[in-house]
This record gives sequence, structure tokens and C-alpha cells, in this order.
Amino acid sequence: MGLIVQKFGGTSVGDAEKIHRAARRAVQACDEGNQVVVVVSAMGHTTDHLIELADQVCQHGGKPYTPPKREMDQLLVTGEQVTIALMAMAISAQGHEAISFTGGQIGLITDQSFSKARIQSIDKQRIFKQLEQGKIVIVAGFQGITPEGEYTTLGRGGSNATLVALGAVLKADVCENYTDVDGIYTADPRIVKNARKIDQITYDEMMELSGLGASVLQTRAVEFAKKYNVPIHVRNSQNDHEGTWIVAETRKMEDIVVSGAALKKDLIRVTIKDVPDRPGIAATIFGKIAAAKVVVDDIIQNVMMDKTATISFTVERGDLADIRASVDQLTSELGAHASFQADLAKVSIVGIGMRTHTGVAERMFQALADAKINIQNITTSEIKISCIIDKGQADTALQVVHDAFKLDKAR
Ligand code: ADP
Ligand code: ASP
Ligand code: MG
Repeated sequence: MGLIVQKFGGTSVGDAEKIHRAARRAVQACDEGNQVVVVVSAMGHTTDHLIELADQVCQHGGKPYTPPKREMDQLLVTGEQVTIALMAMAISAQGHEAISFTGGQIGLITDQSFSKARIQSIDKQRIFKQLEQGKIVIVAGFQGITPEGEYTTLGRGGSNATLVALGAVLKADVCENYTDVDGIYTADPRIVKNARKIDQITYDEMMELSGLGASVLQTRAVEFAKKYNVPIHVRNSQNDHEGTWIVAETRKMEDIVVSGAALKKDLIRVTIKDVPDRPGIAATIFGKIAAAKVVVDDIIQNVMMDKTATISFTVERGDLADIRASVDQLTSELGAHASFQADLAKVSIVGIGMRTHTGVAERMFQALADAKINIQNITTSEIKISCIIDKGQADTALQVVHDAFKLDKAR
């Protein structure tokens, strides 16, 4: 007998039949003698639709208006709330006792950062009390509450964070992440047709892959899983195949040089020109942007003959609204000028074996060159190499890099 936390993503609870299928899995795990907690996402593309609706409402006099973040979170938490109640009903209809909770009801306390809140604590007693009564406990993913009682959300894909946080506080034996693919693949199987399912991957590699575009798991959730050593099993909700285990590194795993490739589309390069070249300027610029809680990447600084600097970096399209105000303020304070270039993408390879193998970067650059793809910028870490490229060549880039390292072949 163990404790299992299962999470069903939007596509796995997209309609009544799928909700019943997910419910059956929870009941089955319970019948096998386990205590079961189920985390659910909003049905299908509900969160996207709610965001679109907000965009439609947020037009005034023909001008777009950025919705207040608090109200955005008030809106988005409703998606998951629908699914928890329906899931509890489905489980009850199948003859098993169940009870649903919102984030607030299980005291999932977060900080105040609307739309990107961080989990601070969870009241596990309420959950344990229900589990001890033999019930399946259903929890709304992606949402929490501040100590002041404000609703917050945990960032897109945030139900993964709820899954792992519950796994950690309840000391679950396993976190099962049910989705619409058989596990983690060597690249997004929607783009690379010969991508191969991986049996095991390390937390570090998965963190990089998620951060570099493998949206199947949220980076923050994997980071949390690593910290608390929570094993995650990513599986398909439509079949019983063994999925991918995300685990701590073992010796054997180092032999694999490149584990996977990832792609991020919709990047924007922000260029700030005519920046005075003096100590502390980068700290001022990036301090201001960090305060807007935006992750920047691929930073380049060039110093011109006239002793001014040009600083450029990339952000995700979705983050542009958040930093625009900071950039505008900076340019007026510094007498600098900003420009924004859209339509960039980033293709990356990840593998812990890169620490000990050479020639990896060269092979990646050659594959892109052979496909006539221009590399605009390169960033590396111990276990990843990323290249900024034109968005129009993004899918091809992912495919050629995947092929160059023969990722379709098992080793
Ligand atoms: P869910 O609704 O279950 O949260 P998501 O749509 O968030 O599902 O994530 C699953 C999708 O992630 C897959 O359909 C797949 O297209 C995409 N994906 C991107 N990279 C990978 C990868 N390396 N392995 C598996 N899936 C990936
Ligand atoms: N419903 C939220 C989203 O679409 C959270 C999640 O599915 O994980 O981002
Ligand atoms: Mg998801």
C-alpha cells in the first residue's frame, strides 16, 4: 500500500468520457490498495479560452488594455474549479467516495505574485483526514491563495507544480503525470515524427528541456521534484504503457551525450541602444527587469566607439507586456533607445554527458549550417547548447539537430 498523486492535464479531462476514464484510473489505484490524490487541470483549452475572453473585454476606445493581474487570476482559477467538481462526481458515479478541494480549501498558500505565484505551504492535515476515511481526494491544480485570501495562479502549466508540491508534502511514493503522449520524447513528437520515447531522464536534463521549450512539464515543478527527490512518472492517460521516469542521476546515465532537443518559438529580442558605458549599468537594467519577474536570456553587450553600449536580450512574447513599462522607464532615464524584434526561435540540445564529451557543439552547428540555418546567438551551460535562429526555420532546425545526434536510435 502506498500513496499516489496523479495529475491529469487539460487534454486528459477534455470531455465527460475522458473525465470518466481518468476517474477509473484513480479508482483502480485505490482498489489496488493505495491512497490516491488526484490533481486536475482545466478542461481542454479552457485556460486559453479564458485568456482570449479577457483580451476581448480588455479593449477600450480601440486601444488594448492590460488586465489587472489580480482579476486575471480571479478568472483563471475558475477553469480548474469546474474539473474538480466533475471529477468528484465521476468517481462517485463509479461507486467510490471522493471529495474535491480548491487550492484555498487545502490551504495551498502562495506569495502575492499573481500569475506566477510560488507555493509556500500546504495544509496536509485536511487531505490526510479525507484519505484516512477512504476517500479519493481531488485538488484543483494551478491555483493557490495568499495569506490575505487572494486567489493566485502558479504560471502556465502550473498543475505540474501542484502535483509535485503535493507529492513532496504528502511524501507520496510516486507522482504520476498523465498527459496526451506516452512520456518524455527526444523532441516534441508533434514536430519531430521520429522522436523516441525516453525511459528515464535526470531531473537536471528535464529542467533544462522544460525551460527550453518542452512544455510537457513546467520547469519549476521539476526543480521542486529534484529538491524533494520526488519521482515523477510521465504517462499517457489513454493507454497503460510504461512512461518516462524522471529521477536523480545515476552513473550509467552519463554515457548518453545528448538526451533530447527542444524548441522555443515566439521569442522577442529587446535591444537597448545608446546606454552609457559605466559600471553598474547592467545591474540597473536587469534589476529593473527582474523586479517585473521576467526571465531574460541570451544577453549580449557591445561597446561602441562613442563609449555607449548596446545591450540586447531575449524574452518570451508573453512576457513582453510585463517588461515594456520597465524598458520604457529605463530608456527615458538613461537617454537610451529600445527596439523589439519578433519572430525568433531557439533550438537547444540537452544531455548530462556533454560535461565529459567534446565536439558536441561543433556537430550541432554543422547540422544547422548544412540546412542553411543562420545562428544569431549561442548560449551554453554544462549540459546544454542553445542557438537563436529565425522562427521560420524553427521546425527544420529541431529536426536536423535531432537527426545529427541520431536521437531516434536507442542506445
Ligand atoms: P497536459 O494537458 O497534459 O498538461 P501539455 O500540452 O501541457 O499537456 O503537454 C503535453 C505536450 O507537450 C505534448 O502533446 C507534446 O506535444 C509536448 N511536448 C513538447 N516537448 C515534448 C517532449 N520532449 N516530450 C513529450 N512531449 C513534449
Ligand atoms: N490550466 C493551466 C494551464 O493551461 C494549468 C495547467 O494545465 O497545468 O496552463
Ligand atoms: Mg501542461
